[in-house]
Amino acid sequence: MKIFAGGMQGNLKSMVSPEVSYPQAAIRWVMSNPDIDTCIPTLSSYSHVEEYVSASGRPLDRAALAVIRNYREQAHNLYCRVSCTECLSACPNNVAVNDVLRYAMYFEHYGTEKEAMAYYAEMEPDRKPLGCADCPGYCEKACPYGLKVKPRLLHSHDILTA
Ligand code: SF4
Ligand code: SF4
Repeated sequence: MKIFAGGMQGNLKSMVSPEVSYPQAAIRWVMSNPDIDTCIPTLSSYSHVEEYVSASGRPLDRAALAVIRNYREQAHNLYCRVSCTECLSACPNNVAVNDVLRYAMYFEHYGTEKEAMAYYAEMEPDRKPLGCADCPGYCEKACPYGLKVKPRLLHSHDILTA
């Protein structure tokens, strides 16, 4: 699961390859690992079925690796890693940073805005980033991936409650 590492390709520059799409490259990269038998990508349109299934069984090659490298260079400090909890203990307000940023990812990059807003609405208010504006941003210093966490949280709250 979560093999697209944030799924930001639609909102990044120059992620269009004439030979291979980023999702296809990601599927081929994951499946090139001999310890992995399958992957479970999000399918939010029927066109994804054709695109993703056509990558199955195709070996990783230079073109696909170049797409992966391009994505990593552009996105590495922009997306919150699923399952990461590194910054949570640094927050004095107990904000569920990872959950908030995951719902924002669903909203901005997965095309599932309504579901993302519903998930966010179900969160306990005291886990939401309601006090972030007045905080120095301890979470940012704790993030090993260099995310600008505080502005991302404030932006996430705005879009998920619009
Ligand atoms: S900005 Fe402050 S309150 Fe908001 S999540 Fe980061 S550490 Fe917590
Ligand atoms: S913001 Fe950074 S440290 Fe915090 S959960 Fe996301 S990836 Fe991990």
